[in-house]
Amino acid sequence: MPPEPVLPPVLSQAHRWVERALSPGDLAIDATVGNGRDTAFLADRVGPTGLVIGFDVQQSALAAASARLVELGLSDRVRLVRSGHERMAEIASGLAPGRRPKTVVFNLGYRPGGDRAIITRPETTLQALGAALDLTLPGGVVAVVCYPGHEGGAVERDAVLDWARTIPTTRAAVVVHQVWNARLAPCLVGISPHETKPRP
Ligand code: SAH
Repeated sequence: MPPEPVLPPVLSQAHRWVERALSPGDLAIDATVGNGRDTAFLADRVGPTGLVIGFDVQQSALAAASARLVELGLSDRVRLVRSGHERMAEIASGLAPGRRPKTVVFNLGYRPGGDRAIITRPETTLQALGAALDLTLPGGVVAVVCYPGHEGGAVERDAVLDWARTIPTTRAAVVVHQVWNARLAPCLVGISPHETKPRP
């Protein structure tokens, strides 16, 4: 394997953040399953005692992801749900009552190799991000990869960045990881909720 670059690309950086947050036995959510790469990564990290809930609106995405998980022997700890991620809170509380995720991962845009007309949309993405921020345990991370290259992608990235900027510093740490010298490079946003102190 070639050595990891000093400045890793966005997906490796997202995985590093997630890796740091996750422990065996945790609950993790993949908000955009797509081909299931992130789902498999999360399933590996939560281990046999953990649980991953994955959302996608496309049956073809869930089928591709399911095949990957079976092949890797990871399907026992994953629940794939055909639903928009904007229903994350309600569905997660049904599948994992009383549990909160340590991480929620979003990989926006269209599914590589799939129908490029089916993309995530700012309105539902922002609803889901709000839910993810509320659900994620303190010290965990919401990781969002935005792709400005496709139609509507730059608008969605800007909506995510604008929303992330409004999060009070007392509520969460918010970090942006961005290749600066390439046009239309993807952008990674990390949001790590703080412990909320009870008011005196
Ligand atoms: N752009 C990424 C992969 C994104 S896959 C890359 O290049 O690697 C994004 C997935 O989000 C698609 O499979 C799509 O079906 C799914 N999606 C679109 N809207 C959604 C929604 N509201 N809730 C959950 N998944 C959604």
